[in-house]
Amino acid sequence: MPANVVISPRGEQRLQTGHPWIYRSDIVESHASGGDRVVVRSRRGQVLGQALYSDQSQIALRMLTDGEQEADDALIERRILAAIAFRETLNINATAYRLVHGESDRLPSLIVDQYGDYLVMQALSQGMDKLTPLVVRVLQDRLSPRGILARNDPRTRTLDGLEQKVEVLAGEIPDVVHVHELRVEYEVDLRHGQKTGLFLDQRDNRGAAALYAHGRLLDCFSYNGGFALTMAQRCREVIALDVSEDAVARIKANAARNNVQVDARAGNVFDELRAFERSGERFDTIVLDPPAFAKSKSAIDKASSGYKEINLRALKLLNPGGTLVTCSCSYNISEAAFAQIIYEAAIDAGVHVTVTEKRMQGRDHPVLLGVPETYYLKCFILRRLAD
Ligand code: SAH
Repeated sequence: MPANVVISPRGEQRLQTGHPWIYRSDIVESHASGGDRVVVRSRRGQVLGQALYSDQSQIALRMLTDGEQEADDALIERRILAAIAFRETLNINATAYRLVHGESDRLPSLIVDQYGDYLVMQALSQGMDKLTPLVVRVLQDRLSPRGILARNDPRTRTLDGLEQKVEVLAGEIPDVVHVHELRVEYEVDLRHGQKTGLFLDQRDNRGAAALYAHGRLLDCFSYNGGFALTMAQRCREVIALDVSEDAVARIKANAARNNVQVDARAGNVFDELRAFERSGERFDTIVLDPPAFAKSKSAIDKASSGYKEINLRALKLLNPGGTLVTCSCSYNISEAAFAQIIYEAAIDAGVHVTVTEKRMQGRDHPVLLGVPETYYLKCFILRRLAD
């Protein structure tokens, strides 16, 4: 029998909003060990559901079921199969995409990404860490991958008292894997690339941005060139900027592999935008896809001025009629807050801007209603009106 954990009325209220996390401060009584699947009860003894328990993280419980429904191995298996089946209905034009998106697939703290014949997973809580052998078995039975890699190196694992490590869980993982997304082919290093190798969440936005791309394109925070390469065909000239020399080398390799011309440069976007302004260079299409500036609530003010600065400078560099594709992957900055930042940037730049599209992370990374943490990526496609 699973152990019991009793939560406070405030915790109960939170569950009623559909949010699957219960914080440690709302635990009244626990007889569980870290990583256990537990029965969650109210003070009056009512069964509220079953959850994964952590004895370290501030997120003490991650709910798996409501009411009397049991969270056994069969339930986990069903959820994984449902997540995979959903992705198959999306007709994604890529061999790399997300199969399991944690809370949004009711598999809290589990990520599984597909890269061709290989799978990369992340188990980001004690409970999911313990379920890894089950997850691996289900993935093998359903997909027969050539290899499964655990990219368990995110820092969040330490909040759960877990080790940060990268290990092959099944089969083999080559140093380089080839995948395609839309019409672009990429070389991916699954062990060392950012996230699980690529920023899969931007696929649909790259495709959408390509529809507006024209003239001179500047792709800022380019990583391995995702936006630049997808948009290059429609542009006369393409410059991609990233602060990391490794990223610049990867952009060059990917550009050669896809037979497109990209001028990949190492540099700090904040400095380079200023330099372009000084030298009078102008662009018809600009992409801003920075890393999360606001990783915590306390960083919101500083992050907002960072977002405002790059958007302001980009709008100034944009020719009238030009397109700005601007993103924020900080879930601490809401869509409304991001829209406000862009509006203030436009006012300060002295330009009139229309919003052509408001977008989010790709369809394989769905948002769970009631759980704002699952809506993290915002992408606006803007047009600078002619004077
Ligand atoms: N646009 C990419 C993902 C960008 S991730 C894609 O579509 O896949 C953010 C990137 O910004 C990282 O590659 C990081 O190296 C780079 N970066 C972070 N700070 C930077 C800065 N100040 N100037 C330039 N690049 C920066």
